[in-house]
Amino acid sequence: MSDLRELYQEMILDHNKNPRNFKVLENADRTAEGYNPLCGDHYTFYLNVDDQTISDVGFQGSGCAISKASASVMSTTIKGKSKDEADTLFNSFRSMVTGSAKPDLEAMGKLAAFSGVSEFPARVKCAILPWHTMSSALHEEQTVVSTE
Ligand code: ZN
Repeated sequence: MSDLRELYQEMILDHNKNPRNFKVLENADRTAEGYNPLCGDHYTFYLNVDDQTISDVGFQGSGCAISKASASVMSTTIKGKSKDEADTLFNSFRSMVTGSAKPDLEAMGKLAAFSGVSEFPARVKCAILPWHTMSSALHEEQTVVSTE
């Protein structure tokens, strides 16, 4: 288990340092902005959705390592997925980081790197913020979301 922990830790550090899809989508169909006032995390998500499929995703912003890595890993995970698949992943991710359900780490793939967050309640909002923001853009709900 400690090897796995180390691997997860490394993945989070790597995505924080070199976030994937860290770009503005100039012709984004949908955008949303999210804040976590408790930590100061602040991100904007850009999505292109073609016929129910997330064809491209980008994000900008700044925050703690957990929030940035979460945004980065999530962006790589949802690209090419359908809206429904993204919703399902969000639900699984939320259950995992809030500790409300025992995660199937294999099924979570790279997202499993955040399974340890459930032990740190103050970090849960950091990990979830990018998902809330992306989901809000995806469903064309609020254009500004806050964890508070
Ligand atoms: Zn944070």
